[in-house]
Amino acid sequence: MTFDVDVAVVGAGPGGLGTVLNLLDADPGLRHGMLVVDPSGSWLHRWRWQMEAMGISHLRSPATHHPHPDPWQFRKWCMSRPSGLVMRDGYEMPATRAFQDFVDETIVEHDLSEAVTPDHVETVTQKPSGAVVRLANAGPITCRRVVLATASRRKRLGVAFRHFRDRRVVHAEDVDLPSLELSGRRVLVIGGALSAAHLVIGANDAGAEVTMAVRDRFRVRKFDVEPGWMGPKYLDGFNAETDRSVRRRIVSSARDGGTLPPWARRELAKLAQRGSLRVILKAPPTRAWIAENGVRVQLGEEDLEFDHVWLATGFETDLTEEPTLHDLLQTQDVPIHQGLPEVDHELRLPGTDIHLVGGLAALELGPAAANLHGLRRAGLRVAHSIVPNYEPVYTAHLH
Ligand SMILES: Cc1cc2nc3c(=O)[nH]c(=O)nc-3n(C[C@H](O)[C@H](O)[C@H](O)COP(=O)(O)OP(=O)(O)OC[C@H]3O[C@@H](n4cnc5c(N)ncnc54)[C@H](O)[C@@H]3O)c2cc1C
Repeated sequence: MTFDVDVAVVGAGPGGLGTVLNLLDADPGLRHGMLVVDPSGSWLHRWRWQMEAMGISHLRSPATHHPHPDPWQFRKWCMSRPSGLVMRDGYEMPATRAFQDFVDETIVEHDLSEAVTPDHVETVTQKPSGAVVRLANAGPITCRRVVLATASRRKRLGVAFRHFRDRRVVHAEDVDLPSLELSGRRVLVIGGALSAAHLVIGANDAGAEVTMAVRDRFRVRKFDVEPGWMGPKYLDGFNAETDRSVRRRIVSSARDGGTLPPWARRELAKLAQRGSLRVILKAPPTRAWIAENGVRVQLGEEDLEFDHVWLATGFETDLTEEPTLHDLLQTQDVPIHQGLPEVDHELRLPGTDIHLVGGLAALELGPAAANLHGLRRAGLRVAHSIVPNYEPVYTAHLH
């Protein structure tokens, strides 16, 4: 069979990049048959934007989590850059700047600077001749394999804001702190996890009067999931479970509700103690309306007025929300468990040559599928599938 390209990678975030690096590690010859597409035309565009927009100075994940195929490469790189890793809460936290510089060097070293085609993939379908990618600005491209690394997800808005349309009420993902004039403004941040904490800290630094509404109470955890989910401790049991609906429940309960790392909890406590932050616990917003001078929000017994309301309420991952797959899902039978599809061990949608990388692969990779560790494991699995005799020289878990 002949293909226009060997492998098409849709999305040039850490997931797309990690997969490409693993594929080149497995078979350098793949370089000539690879197409990477992202509307930005560059690597990690969304990642960089979200870090800058929320003022994130350090990553939550440890130094071994990054797109390079050698897990130790970033730590080695940091040895000559003392500010690259900061010791906090008993582990080395990578500085966002260092992580980005390292990734930029990795891209140059692998001669990938010009590798991203600036376009938008409209559909990915499966034909007997192969997987077909249709771009906004080019005709259909038949591919031996497609890797979908778009991280599509639905913003969770909560009951009070589901139908609320006002420019002062935005999801955390759309807040751009550096562009806002916040001095003396009344800001409500809804949510009790790390994104909420970043926004509270950033708004407070900018001179805002900040209130934080937390659904229940703060829950503290170093990483986004228990470390056992990033190794054999919990993954062995997960892999032994054959019922995908049980796996779905496991994924939900391991990720249920957001958490804060200890350092962020301490920062919030300091702000609250100084009187710079009001925290309202166990009072999720039930109602919101436009008032004369702002947005009024019902929080428990009180209704309060704000100039900005930021919803740091997370996301839902749902295959049916992935726009590129709408056509495919009309014809292909894909069992879906509360948004998560069944994929094979190689992360392919059943009966297709389309691999999923990221949160959509959680029924195979477990609750950490969407973070940098999950993306690393996904990249390895895809590389093993496309280059079956791949023998990675680096040690890495392949659960
Ligand atoms: C604020 C924040 C902080 C985080 N911090 C950490 C952390 O410290 N450690 C950690 O392990 N994880 C972290 N994560 C989680 C995760 O690692 C990031 O979300 C990461 O960006 C996911 O990478 P990705 O490649 O899956 O998706 P993204 O980085 O979102 O990249 C997806 C790309 O796909 C492109 N795309 C989408 N649709 C199409 C299409 N139709 N055609 C072409 N291209 C398309 C997008 O333009 C985008 O560039 C964080 C997440 C957030 C939101």
